[in-house]
This record gives sequence, structure tokens and C-alpha cells, in this order.
Amino acid sequence: MFNLDEFPSFFIANWKLNGNKSFITEYIKKLQTNTENCLVICPPTIYLNFIKIKYKNLFIGSQDVSIYNEGAYTGEVSVNMLVDNDIKFTIVGHSERRSYFNETNKNILIKSDKLIEKNIIPIICIGETLEQKEKNLTKEILSRQLDECIPTTSNYKNSLIAYEPIWAIGSGLTPTIEQIDEVHSFIKNYDNKYNNFKILYGGSVKSSNSKQITKLENVSGCLIGGASLNIDEFNKIID
Ligand code: PEP
Repeated sequence: MFNLDEFPSFFIANWKLNGNKSFITEYIKKLQTNTENCLVICPPTIYLNFIKIKYKNLFIGSQDVSIYNEGAYTGEVSVNMLVDNDIKFTIVGHSERRSYFNETNKNILIKSDKLIEKNIIPIICIGETLEQKEKNLTKEILSRQLDECIPTTSNYKNSLIAYEPIWAIGSGLTPTIEQIDEVHSFIKNYDNKYNNFKILYGGSVKSSNSKQITKLENVSGCLIGGASLNIDEFNKIID
């Protein structure tokens, strides 16, 4: 297990269901890797190894993992398979998996626990919907997600948490800087256990807002979807 404290900030590129070999080759050629920050590229599963073999110095992350270890589970990829391919990070509980693939808090907890056991860093996503925000339920929802998704084995050395307000993902909308600060501070103070956790922000991060967001003391980096697909934009964000 490497030391998360080695890095000032984390920038996780979530490509979702995008990319192909020629896109990857062009992207990696242009990617500015000369940084103290931790850069993690999360391509679709089928390209994990293609990137890993070609570009040994990059951190690669998967976008999900199975709750099962092996057996008759068509289409799944296990934690051991990620270990076998030297994958160091996995996004868990992304809101798109929660809403389109019925991901539950219970499964997120199981996945995170299995990853931690095998020294893969889970990037555990939590966040509220617009309706929940408008009803002032953000803290209640986040509390429940923290209680139900974060395994007891999780700590600031082996896990990352990403606060991703669902209404901000892919929408071009973001909370105000003050709201991001308040929510991150709420997570860190929710329980002593979280005091030293690195909390990433995700939701419509782009080069025009990333500096302000990452400057916040309670923000240790960003999870970036759409903007991470444009290499010039991603380079500006990680600069
Ligand atoms: C995401 O997919 O986690 C995300 C934050 O997407 P976007 O940056 O496009 O809002």
C-alpha cells in the first residue's frame, strides 16, 4: 500500500463509458504527468490493462468492482482480478451506478471492504439529489451514506471519500465555494474517524472553477467526469 499522504492533491479522471485505443494513445501523449499530485485515470474496464502495460508510471483506477470473488457472475470483475492487474484505485458507489444499476449502500460497503482488504484504495462516492438538497436534507443523507457505506476497516490511509452532489454531476451546476467547504467540513467532523480523511469534490469541475475548489483546506482534490475527457482541459485542471 502506498502512502496517500505523499500527495498534496488527488485528481481522478472518470471517463465513464468513453474512450478507445486511439483516444487513449493521444491522451496519454499529451497528459502532463510532471506533478506532485496524484493522477488517476479510470477508463472503462476493458482498457485498464491497455493503459497499464503501455504507461507504467500512471495510476489507473477501475470504475467499479464486483461484490463477488469468483464464479457464475457473468460480466463481473473481481477485486482479485484488479489486484492481478496492479490496479490501485476503484471508484465505488458512483451515483450513476446507484441510479442505473441499483447499487445499494450495503453493496458499496461490501465492495469497499473487499478492496481495502486487498490494498486497493476505494474512492467512495456520496452525495444528495437536488430534491434532497432543496428539502435541506443534505446532511441527513450524507450521514446515512457515511454510516452505511464506509466499512469499519476504512481509514484515512486506505480510503478516499468523494462528495459528489448528484445534481452537480454533468449538469454544469456546482454548489458555491462556501457550500462545498461547509459540506466537506461536515463530513470531516461527522465522526473523529473522518477528521484526517481526504475528501475529494466531484460535480462539474472544470479549469475555470478547479483552482478555487482545490484551494479549500477541506478539499483534497477532485473527481472529474466530463472535463477529464478533454486532455487540454484536464491538463489545466491538474496544473
Ligand atoms: C463524475 O462522473 O463523477 C463527475 C463528477 O462528472 P462531471 O465532472 O461530468 O460532473
